[in-house]
Amino acid sequence: MAEILQHWAGGKPLASSGDRTGDVTDPATGAVTKQVAFASPDDVERTVAAARDAFPGWRDTSLSRRTQIVFRFRELLNARAGELAAIITAEHGKVLADAAGEVARGQEVVEFACGMPHLLKGSASANASSGVDVHSIRQPLGVVGIISPFNFPAMVPMWFFPIAIAAGNTVVLKPSEKVPSAAQWMAELWAEAGLPDGVFNVLHGDKVAVDGLLTHPDVKSLSFVGSTPIARYVYETGTAAGKRVQALGGAKNHMVVLPDADLDLAADQAVNAGFGSAGERCMAISAVVAVGRAGDALVERIAQRTTGLRTGDGRRGADMGPLVTAAARDRVGGYVDAGEAAGASLVVDGRGIVPDAEGEGFFVGPTLFDHVTTDMSIYTDEIFGPVLSVLRVETYDEAVAMINANPYGNGTALFTNDGGAARRFQQEVEVGMIGINVPIPVPMAYYSFGGWKSSLFGDTHAHGTEGVHFFTRGKVVTSRWPDPASPEHGGGVDLGFPTSG
Ligand code: NAD
Repeated sequence: MAEILQHWAGGKPLASSGDRTGDVTDPATGAVTKQVAFASPDDVERTVAAARDAFPGWRDTSLSRRTQIVFRFRELLNARAGELAAIITAEHGKVLADAAGEVARGQEVVEFACGMPHLLKGSASANASSGVDVHSIRQPLGVVGIISPFNFPAMVPMWFFPIAIAAGNTVVLKPSEKVPSAAQWMAELWAEAGLPDGVFNVLHGDKVAVDGLLTHPDVKSLSFVGSTPIARYVYETGTAAGKRVQALGGAKNHMVVLPDADLDLAADQAVNAGFGSAGERCMAISAVVAVGRAGDALVERIAQRTTGLRTGDGRRGADMGPLVTAAARDRVGGYVDAGEAAGASLVVDGRGIVPDAEGEGFFVGPTLFDHVTTDMSIYTDEIFGPVLSVLRVETYDEAVAMINANPYGNGTALFTNDGGAARRFQQEVEVGMIGINVPIPVPMAYYSFGGWKSSLFGDTHAHGTEGVHFFTRGKVVTSRWPDPASPEHGGGVDLGFPTSG
């Protein structure tokens, strides 16, 4: 019997009351490695109850004690990051170095959250009115839900839970059913770090689990990351139920290369950002927009680098691993067929490559198209695979117009040596995260991560001070302590609206 991974609630495994499960596969070999429980409505109820019961005690735990536990989590994770990276590679397929990079970027948010005592400081005004003082505080929300995608099994949950926990909330994480084991591993690490039972809980499953969280009266907020249709659904359903929701969606990220750019740098970065993690990153570059005479020389350089990449099992030193599932492989292959049929020039064809792997893994090799136009499905759709499209335009203005006409607005990059063009670009482009000669401009933990347009629903980005704001509510306290020596001790009767004076 294959192992069935169960939920984690109240500091221990929680066996599902239902019998629905899903396969967990190793994408490099195609083998089913375990089963994961899919939550029933009763499982949702019991997991949220564990988080709800833990909330008052955790809220009232001192800031310094809470922060010490977060710091201890950091220390344990530093010592054992390799274990987590191996779990990510075994279920997602990305190469080990990439998985280690994901853990390191998540760890930055843990480190940011260690500064929570400073981040939660309110402000105070003495004598705002005669004898009246005002101060503000921020308090945790209660039980917060996190729903994460398959492509970053550790980092995306870590965009949220370190801040939520350090701020005094209790968490129910619903990880992607395709990559459930990283969440379980992190739950055990929290327990080892001394986090009280019920503060961090994991609910596995599919739409039943998500819908349960979206409508549960004890869940106060939802942080979602995934595809745009589901992000929109989560935002609309969660806000209709009165919850605070941040829902990060899909992307189509453009990299504009001006003729004056360093074309070797641009080609290196296009390949890294296009094919890293097999293109399964929300900040992957999928559209290279070559301006004017940059085109031919750039495509030649990208093609040369693309053909040199090694595709295979992420544990064998390959540059690029498999796609996450057989369905993802078939979908990506279908887009390559469609691009060819639509008349784009197929410069490097990744279909049918022979990977360095055992078994029946889900591989598509790096694929490069040139002369792609904005009406082709390889441009209009988020492929989420190792397919890089080059589009040709004559001017900078055409490039910016193309980006601004795209429904997504997650990340974008400009490659140039012209500071004036770079300055204009960051002002004019309707995208949330901009790179200047940087292809994947993922903000540091102390800034906030988020796109515009169909890449984010809600108004609060992830982590940084916006994250602290999302996981807390503000209160303003106005107080007067009458001076017993004053003759106006009682203040007198006055039904007018109070004004300062
Ligand atoms: P997905 O939308 O299929 O799944 C995300 C989560 O939603 C999972 O936990 C899944 O179980 C759940 N879910 C799936 N279908 C559902 C439904 N019908 N009802 C309720 N819940 C449902 O996304 P994915 O394939 O796991 O991840 C890839 C997508 O995530 C891409 O579109 C990528 O761009 C996006 N992404 C965005 C960011 C960002 O920061 N904007 C970051 C990472 C990934």
